Amino acid sequence: MAKAKVAAKPTVKKYSNYINGEWVKPQSGEYFDNVNPADTSDIVGRFPLSNADDVNSAVEAAKNAATRWRRTPAPKRAEILFNLAEILRDNKDEFTTQMTREMGKVTKEAGGDVQEAIDCTYYTAGEGRRLHGFTTPAEMPNKFAMAVRQPVGICGLITPFNFPMAIPSWKLIPALVCGNTVVLKSGEDVPLSSLNLIKACEQAGIPKGVVNLVNGARDAGAALVENHDVRLISFTGSTTTGRVIAERCAHDNKIVSLEMGGKNAIIVMDDADVDNAVEGSLWGAFGTSGQRCTASSRLVVHKKIYKKFCEKLVEKVKKLRVGNGLDPRTDVGPVINQAQMEKILGYIDIGANQDKATLAVGGNRLTKGDYGKGFFIEPTVFTNVKPTMRIAQEEIFGPVTCVIPFSTLDEAIDIVNGVAYGLSSAIYTQDVNQAFYAMQELYTGICYVNSATIGAEVHLPFGGTKGTGNGHREAGTQVLDIFSEWKSLYIDYSGKLQKAQIDEVEI
Ligand code: NAD
Repeated sequence: MAKAKVAAKPTVKKYSNYINGEWVKPQSGEYFDNVNPADTSDIVGRFPLSNADDVNSAVEAAKNAATRWRRTPAPKRAEILFNLAEILRDNKDEFTTQMTREMGKVTKEAGGDVQEAIDCTYYTAGEGRRLHGFTTPAEMPNKFAMAVRQPVGICGLITPFNFPMAIPSWKLIPALVCGNTVVLKSGEDVPLSSLNLIKACEQAGIPKGVVNLVNGARDAGAALVENHDVRLISFTGSTTTGRVIAERCAHDNKIVSLEMGGKNAIIVMDDADVDNAVEGSLWGAFGTSGQRCTASSRLVVHKKIYKKFCEKLVEKVKKLRVGNGLDPRTDVGPVINQAQMEKILGYIDIGANQDKATLAVGGNRLTKGDYGKGFFIEPTVFTNVKPTMRIAQEEIFGPVTCVIPFSTLDEAIDIVNGVAYGLSSAIYTQDVNQAFYAMQELYTGICYVNSATIGAEVHLPFGGTKGTGNGHREAGTQVLDIFSEWKSLYIDYSGKLQKAQIDEVEI
């Protein structure tokens, strides 16, 4: 009898770190699996679990490349970055599919993420022909005064899972255009997208050592923070991690820029177009399965329209299709990993049983059929939520939102401002006075009128107040203030002048 054919198991690809222009195995000898959150039997690849030796080699490479890159004229650096933008654009579809496979977000959103990296690269490369300083009159005669930007040195970039290519690009490209060399420690749940970005840097012709990639988890990030040659840490991730990093950076007087958690809110006034507000809230809350730092996790709704708003929202939420992000019919993909899934389910339990809010829709993990292979949670809405409840105060970072009633605009503003975070806010109203008043009073880094709390554009500053940040802004030209330092220059040109020429100007 002929033997039945057994389908060969596809071999899982092993990836490397990128150090000093070479793809190298980790000195740790250890690897971790990059798992598809929609189907945990699908291993996207094996990535180095790097240790301090790997990180220190990468920093050494960045150190050796620093002088040459710093002295490369900024327009020349920009030329290479324009090449990079073209490579990213040409590979957008492949990078998008790979991102959905490793991170779970639906392909439309993953495409937006890659596009953000492309936009960032084109836009920021343009700064290579600007990087403006300024001139100003000096106090003394025959003196010239000006200020220029100089690179800070070696930059350590530490990134999270939720924008796998956009966030690394938001740090990498401005760091490079300013003349710094870089070590990127990618997010451990999404290493392939960072690797795609760095591979594109290699193809674009960025000289060896200027860009280095170290894969790994917390220990690799911590080693980067500890390395004395690293002058700057640019971090995006949770507020808890950011605080630890800031403390460690203080020992070395490192420059540290932090983009951290959020608990963003939409105010819906009684004069708002309710359908428009519901639609915005739906995508603000459940886009990227609620795993956006700007997610609309609080909906602060005027009492006069509260019931109508909640009914319409719940009706729409019930129709959302949860599934694998690679399926074009999917609205909401999985959450990133087991730990995050458990944390979200824990918050749902707190909302229902401790806070005693009304669980209006959702609330469960999905396990039937293919759902059982991944980390899927029903889009969840709590109503009758009080602003002080834990689900209304703490960042959940999943497909969960809560609807809070209010009576006056001042009360709504106090609710929005009454959390530890300050990234993004929004107001739906047709009254221009209310809109401007809210824009003035909401203490967040970003504020939207008649659209949800999500959707940043790369030429505007991005970042938050309070527990979200430490005063820096990424994107726009403001990001240049993170990755460069000012140097003031005074030039005395009186030396070779005739005495008469000097007298002429002396008063
Ligand atoms: P996280 O804090 O768990 O991890 C972020 C990165 O830090 C990872 O690369 C991780 O390996 C590294 N890390 C962890 N501990 C470290 C340590 N002690 N030293 C050095 N590095 C360390 O965050 P996450 O779960 O990947 O991302 C979700 C969080 O990111 C949410 O809180 C979200 O709001 C936030 N976020 C903020 C923004 C923003 O711009 N404000 C944008 C996206 C995400």
